[in-house]
Amino acid sequence: MGETDPKSAKVAIVGAGLTGLLAAHGLRKAGFDVVLFDQETSLDMRKRDWPLMLHWALPTFNSLVPASVLQNFPDALCNRHLDLSNPDSFTMRCANGETGETLFCSAVPGMRRVSRQRLRRVMAADLDSAGLIQWGKTLEKLDADDGDGGGPVSLSFSDGTTFSADYVLGTDGASSKVRELLFHGAEAARIQPSGFMCATAIVKHDDAAKVQPVLSSHPVATIILGTESVGGTSVMHADKPDDISTWSITWIKIWRKSKLPDPPAKNGPEALAWIQETTKGLADPFQSQIAWTANGDDVYIDEMRTWVSVPWETRNGRVTLAGDAAHPMLVYRGQGYQHAVTDADNFVKALVSVRDEGKSREEVIGAYSSDVVERGAQAVTQSLREADMSMDLESTMKMIMAKKGHAK
Ligand SMILES: Cc1cc2nc3c(=O)[nH]c(=O)nc-3n(C[C@H](O)[C@H](O)[C@H](O)COP(=O)(O)OP(=O)(O)OC[C@H]3O[C@@H](n4cnc5c(N)ncnc54)[C@H](O)[C@@H]3O)c2cc1C
Repeated sequence: MGETDPKSAKVAIVGAGLTGLLAAHGLRKAGFDVVLFDQETSLDMRKRDWPLMLHWALPTFNSLVPASVLQNFPDALCNRHLDLSNPDSFTMRCANGETGETLFCSAVPGMRRVSRQRLRRVMAADLDSAGLIQWGKTLEKLDADDGDGGGPVSLSFSDGTTFSADYVLGTDGASSKVRELLFHGAEAARIQPSGFMCATAIVKHDDAAKVQPVLSSHPVATIILGTESVGGTSVMHADKPDDISTWSITWIKIWRKSKLPDPPAKNGPEALAWIQETTKGLADPFQSQIAWTANGDDVYIDEMRTWVSVPWETRNGRVTLAGDAAHPMLVYRGQGYQHAVTDADNFVKALVSVRDEGKSREEVIGAYSSDVVERGAQAVTQSLREADMSMDLESTMKMIMAKKGHAK
């Protein structure tokens, strides 16, 4: 098989989450031919949503997406009515989990909080209508063993179909199949339990009196720290500006798995009842939001998992990883997608330099991957350390979140 022509390179992206969609936009803008594959059958399949802060990577995000995404970006915001002239709109209040007293306000410069689901919809719209997302495609196998290592890579899916591409970018999330294949199934690629459990919920009160305490505590979010369970609460969707009873609230609770028996269910009424039984005496507005969550609200419980990035072999610069596939980390300091945006930007630049400057594909993708591993390993490790420190009042002030905020 001959060497790929870099001028007409075709890129297959495995995983149409926020990372894959962003990389696809960036590559298209740079003139590459892109196709996305996702195992989900449509955008509606995954119900779980959460708020996501875009902050230090927002300028890079904006540079990668087309005008249509920038135009519709406000549709993804959790609270489009937030007063951005108020400096508090760029902080989060971190309080003592027992007393509710403010410990510190963590700076999040340039922050915009979005719903992950809504942002995904905004980002998928153009790509989907152009037929560039193939749904219901579960990657099973990559064949990059063509002797001289220069030709296309063949992707095989569980429905028996195949696809041939010059580059493969694995953006298939924390349990990445591409990562598993790059490591030939070795243990080194396997996602690891973190020992920290996480519950999230989205609550629709239809009652302004239950929404107001969240807004009165802080315009963006209140985090409680220093107790065996830590948590946070904020606005998830703010639809009608003059009627906060229509707004929904989200909360997150994190605790050590070793401290409590396993919950009886991962979602639904049983999961909620268990959370309510095991969450007592914590500071408001968090504690009340737990108590006011009702059957029918979306509640999910899971153990958070991580993979401390280690180098992979890129199959002669043809296959690599980005986003959670490359560095699944804990939610602390909201760094996961910031690194994914950086990955997407660097990947586009790498492919441009092979195409336009005639650089060696193997060297450029090798350098790209080494940078992802270095940043990823550091961020994953930091997120685990932050979690450890967050549950003891003595160590909360030593957290990066206290000393440096959410900055890079
Ligand atoms: C509660 C919470 C709060 C967070 N807050 C922040 C924050 O404030 N700031 C921040 O930067 N980050 C935050 N993050 C992290 C951020 O959400 C993730 O880093 C980001 O969404 C990862 O996107 P992804 O596209 O890499 O992975 P995913 O969203 O997991 O997408 C992977 C896609 O690949 C598909 N797929 C998987 N396997 C296959 C296969 N074999 N074949 C085909 N397709 C496949 C899946 O269906 C999925 O659509 C938070 C995470 C959580 C859970």
